[in-house]
Amino acid sequence: MALHWKILIGMGLGIIWALLSGYLGFNEFTIDWIDPFGKIFINCLKFIAIPLVLFSIVSGVASLGDLTQLGRIGAKTFGLYLVTTVISVCLGLVLVNLLVPGKNADSKKNRLRYEVWAQSQGIEVKDGKNALKDADSTMKAEVLAELKLEQGTAEYQNLEAKKAQASATEPGPLQPLIDIVPENLVLSLTDSRLMLQVIFFALFFGISLSLLPKEKVSTVAHFFDGMNEVFVKMVNIVMLGAPFFVFCLMAGVLAKIADSPQEIFEMFKSLSFYALVVVSGLAILLFGFYPLLLILFRVPISYRTFFQQLSPAQFLAFSTSSSAATLPVTIKCVEDGLKVPKKVSDFVLPIGATVNMDGTSLYQAVAVIFLAQYHDVDLSFAQQLGIVATTTLASIGAAAVPSAGLIMLMFVLTSVGLNPMWIIIIYPIDRILDMCRTVVNITSDSTVAAIVAKSEEK
Ligand code: ASP
Repeated sequence: MALHWKILIGMGLGIIWALLSGYLGFNEFTIDWIDPFGKIFINCLKFIAIPLVLFSIVSGVASLGDLTQLGRIGAKTFGLYLVTTVISVCLGLVLVNLLVPGKNADSKKNRLRYEVWAQSQGIEVKDGKNALKDADSTMKAEVLAELKLEQGTAEYQNLEAKKAQASATEPGPLQPLIDIVPENLVLSLTDSRLMLQVIFFALFFGISLSLLPKEKVSTVAHFFDGMNEVFVKMVNIVMLGAPFFVFCLMAGVLAKIADSPQEIFEMFKSLSFYALVVVSGLAILLFGFYPLLLILFRVPISYRTFFQQLSPAQFLAFSTSSSAATLPVTIKCVEDGLKVPKKVSDFVLPIGATVNMDGTSLYQAVAVIFLAQYHDVDLSFAQQLGIVATTTLASIGAAAVPSAGLIMLMFVLTSVGLNPMWIIIIYPIDRILDMCRTVVNITSDSTVAAIVAKSEEK
């Protein structure tokens, strides 16, 4: 049986197990004895990812011979990444504005909540409405008390701390550029969030290696080639256990999200329309947009082959919610299945995992407008255009790990004068949406790799 079928069965069994364990009350057993195997699996993939990126980029670049080719591949890659991200955001904005998932019966009170919050923060309300003027004083006092109570909760403070932590590394327009250059290579190798620094080093090292006379550095080049082979083999070995590990991951994740099947259904009921809009947008990208791009760029891969070959990586992205952890498998599927040469995939995919997140950007666009609609706040066309820019940047800045997109969403909300803590509203179903958007994120990287490879054929 093909690997993707086995993984799919593992996933299905994991979901059934989680539902049963919630229903029969042995969630704790699942969390204590099943979930750890999922974590072990993610750890294996993560510790392989960084050295794999390092060795594969060095050996790839060193073997290129012609450095102008590297420049060309780089320019095409970044161009395509930017275009796909902007299209994803625009698709998200169109869907959420057309379908209006945030309309709700409580919108008057929610509007008041927004205005009370905006007043307390000294933020100008721009859409010309004034709920504060019409509200009676008891209602105002009630809403204010609610806001204070909310700000005292541990969840709220936890999120504030996360936002402060993220913004501590943000200032200055050229900060992202500074962040790419490692200060200490050993430190960069220890954190999968610093993948771009490892890529920078590997490119620099590979370029230097290729500029030296072959006879002087052939041992070094062989060493990197050999190490690359070893890590690829490690991925293959880990993947043999993927169906079992994916079962553990799914069972563990769902058992932690909710104690009973009823809770899962309840959660979905209240946020179902919003979730549906996000998932529909992601599905349009996944099943429509990327195959269309392949046709437009005349990449000779059939619809079926594309999904069949990529599915092990997609299932893994779904169960781990992390493009970084999935990277070793994405590289394997793109090289072996889509027949993209190593020199392209080894460069395009690691960069894509960290900077190209179409799924995340679409989700952020939908989430911001949904939250605005939910609080009866009208965002102007200019503000929505601003969202295109901020969500594109936020998705580039988001790390390739679970929930990174949600934390970056706080900055997008702040940029349009909305309360960043509203992410608490959509938090309950974020993990599930994270799983879906990560699938789109890695599919986009793989599509771009196939397109760049095709264009480099000559
Ligand atoms: N989990 C996503 C990824 O790794 C990022 C996010 O949207 O939170 O690609």
